[in-house]
Amino acid sequence: MDVSLLLDDLNDKQREAVAAPQTNMLVLAGAGSGKTRVLVHRIAWLMEVENIAPFSILAVTFTNKAAKEMRGRIESLMKRSMHTMWMGTFHGLAHRLLRAHHAEAGLPENFQILDSDDQYRLIRRILKAMNLDEKHWPPRQVQWYINGNKDEGLRPQHIDTHNDHTQQKMRDIYAAYQESCDRSGLVDFAELLLRAHELWARNPEILAHYQKRFRAVLVDEFQDTNNIQYAWLRMLCSTGDNTIMIVGDDDQSIYGWRGANVDNIHKFLKDFPKPETIRLEQNYRSTSTILKAANAVIDNNTGRLGKELWTDGAEGELVSVYAGFNELDEARFIVSQIKSWLQQGHPLTESAILYRNNAQSRVLEEALLHEGLAYRIYGGLRFFERQEIKDALGYLRMINHPHDDAAYERVVNTPSRGMGEKTLSNIRETARAHNCSLWQASNLLIAEGALKGRAANALQSFILLITELEQATEGQPLEEQADKAIRQSGLYAMYQAEKGEKAQARLENLEELVTACKQFVVPEEADEMTPLSAFLAHASLEAGETQADSDQDAVQMMTIHTAKGLEFPLVFMAGVEEGMFPSQMTNDEPGRMEEERRLAYVGMTRAMKKLFITYAESRRLYGQDKYHTASRFIREIPAECVEEVRLKSTVSRPVHNRFSRATSHESFEQTGFQLGQRVTHRKFGEGIVLNYEGSGDHARVQVNFDEFGSKWLVLAYAKLQPT
Ligand code: ATP
Ligand code: MG
Repeated sequence: MDVSLLLDDLNDKQREAVAAPQTNMLVLAGAGSGKTRVLVHRIAWLMEVENIAPFSILAVTFTNKAAKEMRGRIESLMKRSMHTMWMGTFHGLAHRLLRAHHAEAGLPENFQILDSDDQYRLIRRILKAMNLDEKHWPPRQVQWYINGNKDEGLRPQHIDTHNDHTQQKMRDIYAAYQESCDRSGLVDFAELLLRAHELWARNPEILAHYQKRFRAVLVDEFQDTNNIQYAWLRMLCSTGDNTIMIVGDDDQSIYGWRGANVDNIHKFLKDFPKPETIRLEQNYRSTSTILKAANAVIDNNTGRLGKELWTDGAEGELVSVYAGFNELDEARFIVSQIKSWLQQGHPLTESAILYRNNAQSRVLEEALLHEGLAYRIYGGLRFFERQEIKDALGYLRMINHPHDDAAYERVVNTPSRGMGEKTLSNIRETARAHNCSLWQASNLLIAEGALKGRAANALQSFILLITELEQATEGQPLEEQADKAIRQSGLYAMYQAEKGEKAQARLENLEELVTACKQFVVPEEADEMTPLSAFLAHASLEAGETQADSDQDAVQMMTIHTAKGLEFPLVFMAGVEEGMFPSQMTNDEPGRMEEERRLAYVGMTRAMKKLFITYAESRRLYGQDKYHTASRFIREIPAECVEEVRLKSTVSRPVHNRFSRATSHESFEQTGFQLGQRVTHRKFGEGIVLNYEGSGDHARVQVNFDEFGSKWLVLAYAKLQPT
């Protein structure tokens, strides 16, 4: 092949990295500067010019999807199959290694991978076997503990418990869990990495084999490696037999909360022999306006490695900010913009909606469905398919119709009420024999006194719960029914007792379900049904609708975390308000605000041509209307890069000041009022000042009245009095 093909569409710096002699190399550069492109071309270069066989190359990507795309790009560059090349995620590669050396790794040949849900269930079984109460030892917390230690390379015997009783117990649970995994040949995700590391540490001859085999190692998104991954790479590449190229961007490190360590970039420069650093500074992805906006935001972080990023691309359109009255209005706005994008002849796939939390997708999904626009959710389930939502719906289905066997199976022992597998098969057996529902069978067994002791108690308490729920919720509004079902069943408490991001997300989803019930309007064709059955039908129809296929034209939806490394011509960042993004928890933990800002930077830099940032002035959260102001990340964008979109007209510059002032606590000029101040209105009574815009005769002020809710008033007429 003509080698110049590999270098032609690269700039000087990129070319320098691609065609460098074989040394250890760090490519440090901002978003969209072609890091991933350099990695791909480097791999092709190594094969073509340095004659390294695909067999001798190891490339690490952040997702399987990225690995697949990368392999495809290299195959089309090289015009041949690359199946002997090891290319994948850390987990995928570790798995491959353990399969090849299962005996040396102490695993049976047919060892199985335990996914996160399986792991959770196993932990619960272990807790039960150890006679430990889940209330005191929440399984999710145990799971977090076990995985966290594995990510640091720690086995139970390595953990210093400081003679603390709780710590010791946790360690014992970890040990018992691990024994059980080992007995049954099960390997969880964190174990894959730890085992792969131990395999090399304990078998120098195997390590030496791979050190010789993998002459070139390449890692994308290096800023998000955790400690065990780093240690694994270091072991592989520290002898001088081979070289490693890492590419990354400290400004895009967004997995600190999951153990990723951005310091690994600094460590790399110390730990690996003679590393060279190449910086790329030209951005090819975004318009100069988007880039300027993103750069200004990330500039507020301290301790950055510091990078310049410029583009000679077009200035492009301003970043549009839209303030929705509430989340429904926000969603409607986004959908209307996507529709006009479609009408301009662009495919839907070119558009992406990014959000901070998975729970935010629900309102957006419904708005898209309403307009009949196909969408695809990446790296997550649709709202109504999520585990905790299905649990909650299970209870609602039992209230609606207790003979629903699938719902019965789903919730009879979630949360755990000590119902054993034996009792359950007894119930199933009885139902079969009498040709009745599981619910009827349960009542029968109790009436006949066929069950004894614990089993009888467990079943009785379940029957009582459903009966009571049925009575307590009869004739109540839908959201009351959902709220009671979630709480009285113990579902909410179960997830509340767990710690960690995942449990938090599940709680948010449950709250969001209550909101969905509140907003649900029984469709005309279903007015014969009770609101509850109409809602359940709506939920299952939505869940049943299959995801748009990957080749179908569809709007792309995902969290910002999932969007890392990707790019789209049209990007919406939704829910960009204080309290959502940055999230409420951010203030509690040091360093979290900067990680949130990096997340904002990642989100903004996904956009190629047009970026919309939206937020909702009021949002129903946890069953209450919360009032939020524009996120500080919006205020950090220079005024000349932004326009505020109004539904009918578009106002540019002056309104930007509104974001800047909206959260400042200075009194607004001349008015004498302050944000957050309590005021009285002749008709609406007392309330609190939330926001204002305009000046002079046009000044308007938003007040959230205790009785009448939020209203925008023209200040000149409102005759507000300080309270
Ligand atoms: P991120 O930090 O988001 O992962 P990145 O640094 O990996 O971004 P790439 O995804 O490799 O950046 O490149 C961004 C976009 O710019 C891609 O569409 C890529 O094809 C294009 N690109 C990169 N380098 C060049 C170049 N020299 N000429 C033209 N286009 C380029
Ligand atoms: Mg990339």
